[in-house]
Amino acid sequence: MPLPPDVDSKRFAAAMRELRTIVGEQWVFTSEEDVDLYRDAYTPFFGEPEEYIPCGAVAPASVEQVQEVVRLANRHHIPLWPISTGRNLGYGGAAPRLSGTMVLDLKRMNRVLEVNDTLAYALVEPGVSYFDFYRHLRDNNHKVWMDCPDPGWGSLIGNALDHGLGHTVYRDHFDSHCGMEVVLPSGELMRTGMGAMPNNPLWQGFKYGFGPHVSPIFGQSNFGVVTKMGFWLLPEQDEVRSHIISVRRNTDLEAFLDTMSYLVNSGLIDSSWQLVSAIRGSSDSEIRAALAAHAPDAELERLGAAKNLGYWSTRIRFYGPSAVNAARWDYVRKRMATIPDVFFSDGKVYTFPMDTDSVQDEPDDLFAKGGLGIPSLAIFSLGARNGSQGHIFFSPIIPATAREYRKALEVFRQAYADLGLPPLNFVGGWSWYRRTLVLLFNMPITHDIAGNQRMRANYKRLVQIGAEHGWSEYRTAPAFMDDVMEQLSFNNHALRRFHETVKDALDPNGILAPGKSGIWPKHLRGKA
Ligand code: ADP
Repeated sequence: MPLPPDVDSKRFAAAMRELRTIVGEQWVFTSEEDVDLYRDAYTPFFGEPEEYIPCGAVAPASVEQVQEVVRLANRHHIPLWPISTGRNLGYGGAAPRLSGTMVLDLKRMNRVLEVNDTLAYALVEPGVSYFDFYRHLRDNNHKVWMDCPDPGWGSLIGNALDHGLGHTVYRDHFDSHCGMEVVLPSGELMRTGMGAMPNNPLWQGFKYGFGPHVSPIFGQSNFGVVTKMGFWLLPEQDEVRSHIISVRRNTDLEAFLDTMSYLVNSGLIDSSWQLVSAIRGSSDSEIRAALAAHAPDAELERLGAAKNLGYWSTRIRFYGPSAVNAARWDYVRKRMATIPDVFFSDGKVYTFPMDTDSVQDEPDDLFAKGGLGIPSLAIFSLGARNGSQGHIFFSPIIPATAREYRKALEVFRQAYADLGLPPLNFVGGWSWYRRTLVLLFNMPITHDIAGNQRMRANYKRLVQIGAEHGWSEYRTAPAFMDDVMEQLSFNNHALRRFHETVKDALDPNGILAPGKSGIWPKHLRGKA
């Protein structure tokens, strides 16, 4: 196993002995077999010496143990990479950015500390997975729903800290958190917001507390180890239903997205929605042949109309009383009706209380469970089909307007062609965050070293090309964090310099997650 920079094997062995006295013999992992479990199964460096490999892992059982581990790390200069459940596949898994970093695995801290049905919030520890939490809510007959990402196997805290997303009103998981407990890089314990006042009952109710609001600086950062976090939940709803809105012509996209913006920003639609093209994504042989022959839009639209497929469409979900959902849907249809030939279809209607075991993801609605806050792994059925060993997401985020979306499609289509990548026929846009679309490009990882090297070079180039047009990524894997941060260059990288100032003040020994989000401690800056 690689050792931490500037730590020899003697010092490392001494540190491990000390570490075992803190957490117990069996919770320090240094054998190759054990450490393998913390490598990124989707690493873009498969079989290459550059792969980011931890020196080991340690799994504390309590906040006090986390504090002691962090203090030890300072004394012995052992960098730590905190993970909650380490299932962030596609964005780096459990592996650190810097080889020789020790994974701080928080999965043993897995208590649901509080669920409040009246104010609809929960307080959890890092090891609580979405499946655990879902079971906890059901087993205890709580009248609140969680929001979960696809796939739902990670943790509430890990997913939120990496700005992960789901489907309901509370789909923006970081935005939906309220109150944190953090072990700072010095080992000191801090609570944010109202948690700073002992016994304040609003730690999970009022985000800001008093004075500067600091919780946000612990998202996608290396400023602290989060040991507790509060989340806002959705009270059980009477009804959840989904509908699909489709427009016939490519040129309808402008009116379609403008109307969606109006409805979303007015709060009339408050679910995730994905811009898709039924025509461009169709498996129909006639349409595929037309696409392969670069048929003009008019021809595609004619074929689409014959098969009742829209050029553009989206599924939306409504949560609430049946009458309110029906009224909202009426209004959505009225606004959309200004687009000639717009058409609609209805998804399933779920009425509560119901036995949620009967809910299944459908081939045409892979997120049926997710839409109800039920964790699912159905999303893996998509990845299984493309013959790769895994994938990394390239995820630029753009304004949710037709002008910008068309421009992005064109720019990335051209980039794919210039880079010799397979033709980019289409890429959908996810609107989790209001006003935006996240474009998700699935970059396949294989066990072919030359192929992975090309993929990495292509990824880096795509980051630059995006930045030339003013687009950044909402999240990325450690292999590309420096590249993404490099593009945020306003005023000679004032933002990165600010991060570095905070990093140096909080973590002078640079022990916490060196290189996370392109933020390096002073002694490694420009060297790693
Ligand atoms: P999940 O539990 O959803 O699989 P991960 O454990 O893979 O999420 O973590 C996702 C990202 O968030 C990683 O970059 C990780 O370093 C960071 N992270 C996870 N948990 C914590 C934590 N408790 N404190 C600080 N950073 C964390």
